Amino acid sequence: MKIIDAHIHFFDLPHFHQLALAAGHENSAAHLKKTFGELGIEGAVVMGNRGLSPEDHVYPEFMRYCVGLDRFSFTGEVGADTVSKLRLHLNREACVGIKLYPGYNEAYVYDDVYKPVYRLAEEYGVPVAIHTGEVAGTHGRLKYCHPMTIDEVASDYPGVNFVMCHLGNPWVMDAAVILHKNPNVSADLSGMLVGNTDVKARLADMKGYIDHLKTWIAYAGAYDRLMYATDWPLANMKGYIDFVAELIPPPHHEAVFCENARRIYKLALKF
Ligand SMILES: [Zn+2]
Repeated sequence: MKIIDAHIHFFDLPHFHQLALAAGHENSAAHLKKTFGELGIEGAVVMGNRGLSPEDHVYPEFMRYCVGLDRFSFTGEVGADTVSKLRLHLNREACVGIKLYPGYNEAYVYDDVYKPVYRLAEEYGVPVAIHTGEVAGTHGRLKYCHPMTIDEVASDYPGVNFVMCHLGNPWVMDAAVILHKNPNVSADLSGMLVGNTDVKARLADMKGYIDHLKTWIAYAGAYDRLMYATDWPLANMKGYIDFVAELIPPPHHEAVFCENARRIYKLALKF
C-alpha cells in the first residue's frame, strides 16, 4: 500500500529531537527517508512553523510544505508585507498550501483579518489547513480552534478547500458534522495518538477510544476527504499506520492512506 503522510513538522530544535526519541525515532532527514522507505511512505507534507523566511523552508525532496502563519508570523493582521511573503512561498512548486494555527493564535478563522489568506488560497488553488482540537501546552485559547469555527469559514468561502487538522480531536463528533455538511472541508488524522505506541498490542485497552473515533468517522462518511497523517515527530510511524488501519474500513485504505492527499494537496505530479 502506498502512503503519504499529510501532516508532519520538520525542523532542527532540541525539543523535536526529544519528541522523536520518545516516539522511537530520530529527528533527521536520513532517518525519515529510511523509515519511509521501509514502510512504503512516498512522501510527506510539512506544516510550516517558525516564520516566513523562504530560506527557513527548504525541505528534502520527499517533502512538500504548507506555509504556516503560526504565533511567530501572525501578529493579529495579515498585511501587505505578509501577503507578499506568502506569495514568495506559493510561487514555489514545493509549497502546496497554507497552514493556520488558531488556538495558538488568538483569532477566529472566520475573522476578517484572514480574508487576504483566503483570497490567496483561491488565487493559487491551494487548500488552507487549519489546526483544530486540543493545543499542545498550556498557552493559547481553545475557543479559537473548535471545529465548529470551520463551518463559518467553509460557508463563507465555498471556493476554498479547508483541511481540519487532527479531525478536531477530541471534538470529533463536532468535526464529523462539519465534514458531513461541507464538501469543501477535508480532515487529516494526525495527532490522535502520541508517542511510541504498539497499537496491535494495545488494541484491547484502546478499544473505547478507537470505537468512539470509528463511530464519528462513519457518521461523516467522508472517506474521500480523510487523510492519513502523523504529526511527526509526535508519533511512531509503524504504530500510527496500524492505528489508522483500525479506524478506516479496508475498502477506503487506498483513498485515506494516499489518494486523498494526492488530490487535496495536488501532489499527483510532484512526488
Ligand atoms: Zn501539527
